[in-house]
Amino acid sequence: MKDTNLNKSMKHRTRIQRLTYLFQSKKAELAAGYQGYQELLGFVDQCNRLGITDRGQEMALNDWIDLLECWPFVGGGNAGPLSHVQRQRTMVRDGFVCTMCGRPADEVHHKSTRSKGGRNRGANLTTLCVECHEKVHGARSGICKK
Ligand SMILES: [Zn+2]
Ligand SMILES: [Zn+2]
Repeated sequence: MKDTNLNKSMKHRTRIQRLTYLFQSKKAELAAGYQGYQELLGFVDQCNRLGITDRGQEMALNDWIDLLECWPFVGGGNAGPLSHVQRQRTMVRDGFVCTMCGRPADEVHHKSTRSKGGRNRGANLTTLCVECHEKVHGARSGICKK
């Protein structure tokens, strides 16, 4: 068990280094153009001071790395299916929780649905858990599914 824990913390340390490197190398652009900059800054700082202490942070760490590897965001048009990056960016912005009930989010929802011309813009996207997402769509389920 000891070895497993050691491997786990080593893995986290490497991931934190990766996050820190990506953050530092893109810091100026992020500060200028990324809305979640302060949150990201706080997270990087926390990782470096306290490490990763729970599963939620571990997921957040991986998501921030994914996001930074794709920054600046390109691809994933305004219409059509959401790209992975657009999905991740919405999840990060909304803190990985359902914006209706506060439970962990599972899916990204278009407030104005794509069938009604809703676009893949931040203001039109929100994160929901499966239950709330189904409630929102009712009989029209499946609109936002991957
Ligand atoms: Zn919910
Ligand atoms: Zn939806």
